[in-house]
Amino acid sequence: VSAQAADPTLLVRRQAALGGELSPLFYRSPLQVVRGEGPWIHTADGRRYLDAYNNVPVVGHAHPAVVQAISRQAAVLNLNSRYLHPNVVELAERLTASMPDGLDTCVFANSGSEANDLAWRMARVVTGRGGAVVADLSYHGVSEATAAFSTNTYPVEARPAHVAVFEAPRDAGDDGIAAVERVRAARAELQRAGHDLSLLAVDTVFSSAGILTPTDSFMRGLQDEARAVGGLFLADEVQAGFGRGGRNLWRFQDFGLTPDFVTLGKPMGNGHPVAALITRREIAEAFVEVDEYFSTFGGNPVSCVAALTVLDVIEQSDLVARSGEVGALLRAGLESLVPDLPVRGQGLMVGVEMPGAADFAERLREYGVLVGTTGPGGGVLKIRPPLIWTAAEVEQFLIAFQQALR
Ligand code: PMP
Repeated sequence: VSAQAADPTLLVRRQAALGGELSPLFYRSPLQVVRGEGPWIHTADGRRYLDAYNNVPVVGHAHPAVVQAISRQAAVLNLNSRYLHPNVVELAERLTASMPDGLDTCVFANSGSEANDLAWRMARVVTGRGGAVVADLSYHGVSEATAAFSTNTYPVEARPAHVAVFEAPRDAGDDGIAAVERVRAARAELQRAGHDLSLLAVDTVFSSAGILTPTDSFMRGLQDEARAVGGLFLADEVQAGFGRGGRNLWRFQDFGLTPDFVTLGKPMGNGHPVAALITRREIAEAFVEVDEYFSTFGGNPVSCVAALTVLDVIEQSDLVARSGEVGALLRAGLESLVPDLPVRGQGLMVGVEMPGAADFAERLREYGVLVGTTGPGGGVLKIRPPLIWTAAEVEQFLIAFQQALR
């Protein structure tokens, strides 16, 4: 791929054609990106940045095996998903085999939003109820239904009465009892509005709430109480999934959960758009008795081979364990650099609560490292690199971090 000269008109043209507010960019002076390579992003001004932010390229930017698999399949055939093709079958088999018993049915979509939206439609049909319970500061998608679940961005005054919110776990004392109390309070709120709990959805890394690390008992309390009152439980693994937590392929497994729905997206195709909902057969069957689902692109042969290759690379390079080890190294390094600041997370999903986090992210960029911000008021640095990071990338990151601190 040849170098691309920086185009000084691009930002103005973008704002004119896409709308500034409608399609925001990272950084006060946005990066004009040219190409990616493993942990690196190259920009048009000839610089390269260590990518400590992007979870979409989970096996690294432009991973050769993924690029080759996509190119090969695209050169052979890509089409509407209503034809019999081995890629879609194999991917569904591998995903369901990686889940706890009972999560045996896979539905493909193109985005995390669609997968969550479908779970919500299924939950309503199966439970005959119309109330949803979600965490504060959560993000679940862009469709009408999932935007209303996205308490991080959706205006409080516009929140529909069928959505009730519980407080995400903010300290280690938030145990199973706290979770049960919060679900009960949220359910009572739904009932006062004439609804009942159909679905409780939770991002298993609480990414937009500031990368929280809940106790196992808190997470099980949420799941068990939702079920005990006749609702269904959704583990949103769109951010957390594919080994980022460094213990299991799916973060919900770390807590010993057995969800009714699991949704996958973002890293699934290493940048190629593909997503999935995994559920139990009886839920899917009850849904198709009264409704239907069809996605033109969802589960097409190219998307599926992208996801299959991502799974292969994660397995062959042992990236789940590596994420755990490298993540521990990263957290230890950060803790020694900023001993007074809370460093949270698990695996390669790390948050640092920091005054002036947005300014610090700008400064880190000057030192060649890309991170994001999240949490209340954007006060948490979000460090979420590709899982191919090694000790070498951690060291470079920490050097830049120390320079930016000074
Ligand atoms: N759920 C979570 C937890 C997410 O982080 C996101 C995306 N940020 C979504 C769902 C929506 O996924 P998509 O943007 O692919 O629709």
